[in-house]
Amino acid sequence: MKHILEISPDRYGTRTEIRYASGFTCPRCSGQGGFPDTNGHGNRIFIPCDLCDGTGKVRANITVEWEADYES
Ligand SMILES: [Zn+2]
Repeated sequence: MKHILEISPDRYGTRTEIRYASGFTCPRCSGQGGFPDTNGHGNRIFIPCDLCDGTGKVRANITVEWEADYES
């Protein structure tokens, strides 16, 4: 999945904007939300993924900061 983020300065906007790009399948657990394992007694347990916290999905939190452009 690819996201294209379009940004443009807003006359009344703040200097810092936060955008989210969501709906990405978690790459660590491949969208499973965790990992099956055994606890040493032969019981099957499920270890939640620490990247997506068991949701199977991740999102990007993108902070956009507007500032004076002295170089162009
Ligand atoms: Zn995950």
